[in-house]
Amino acid sequence: MAEKGRIVDVHAHVTPQRFQRAVLGGEDWHGMTAADGELDNLPNRWKPERRIEEMDAIEVDVQVVSPTDVFYQYDRDVEQTKLISRECNEEVAEMVRDHPDRFKGLGTLPMQDPEAAIAEATHGIRELGLVGFMIDDQVNNLTYDHEVFDELWAAFEELGAFILVHQFHPTVVYYRIQDYFLFNSVGNLVDRTLAFGALVYGGVMDRYPGLKICLAHAGGYVPFAFDRMDQGWEVWPGSRGDSQDKPSTYANRFYYDTVTFTDRNLRFMLDVLGSERVVFGTDWPAPMQTYGAVDRLRGSEVLTDPEREDLLWRTASSIFDG
Ligand SMILES: [Zn+2]
Repeated sequence: MAEKGRIVDVHAHVTPQRFQRAVLGGEDWHGMTAADGELDNLPNRWKPERRIEEMDAIEVDVQVVSPTDVFYQYDRDVEQTKLISRECNEEVAEMVRDHPDRFKGLGTLPMQDPEAAIAEATHGIRELGLVGFMIDDQVNNLTYDHEVFDELWAAFEELGAFILVHQFHPTVVYYRIQDYFLFNSVGNLVDRTLAFGALVYGGVMDRYPGLKICLAHAGGYVPFAFDRMDQGWEVWPGSRGDSQDKPSTYANRFYYDTVTFTDRNLRFMLDVLGSERVVFGTDWPAPMQTYGAVDRLRGSEVLTDPEREDLLWRTASSIFDG
């Protein structure tokens, strides 16, 4: 297949070197320690040059790098979270400045204080040159249908920010069962589905139609959840919130990454969502990343060539190049 664009990975994380220098030197970093940041997973330690070698090896042209979810720190004093966000965002911006053809940057925000989050988002896009932000599915158990976030969505829309919605511990599943890794293997997907529901039923997607929101991990259970959510919307009109139509009609208002592990699920999500809303992602360097992701898409027998091109570059190009 002839490739016409560069392969952009929208779901790739970074553990800031300034955090590592502090905690590996025995100091804390704005209250965070060596226990944070999964430093035993060696690629989290890598500097940009080593990261780029790996990107070459796995044929990823551009990573849209985001600080690892542990750097959300929404449950801290906001002044501390503001410092963490700013330093993370400055380091991501440095990576982009030093290697503009290999990295685009997503920042992190002090979401527990929407006003502070707007200020940091504006600074991140306008001054630091970031393209967007990664945010949790909720903020200290407050979901995104809450009016406290309204001006933040307006700001994201105005800034043209790409928003990657991505869980952090604890997911909602953790409160039910803490064994068997279900808090992640199931919990990530449940949290994503609830975030979708809050954004749709809360009317956020209708009030701010220009939002560019990407639901990580292939949208969680969203593609599978549509049928039952639609049925609930039909038979319980008093529970429609501010949504204007059935949940499935909002499918093409979001983006979704390709972090699935089988062709079966990839095919299903494309059948439900359409390839023009699905963008390449790996979750590198997490142990739960999709390994050999470029090769897999190139060789997949369940994709048409136009779909393959959408996933590998065209959808990303439509988001980031215009
Ligand atoms: Zn991730």
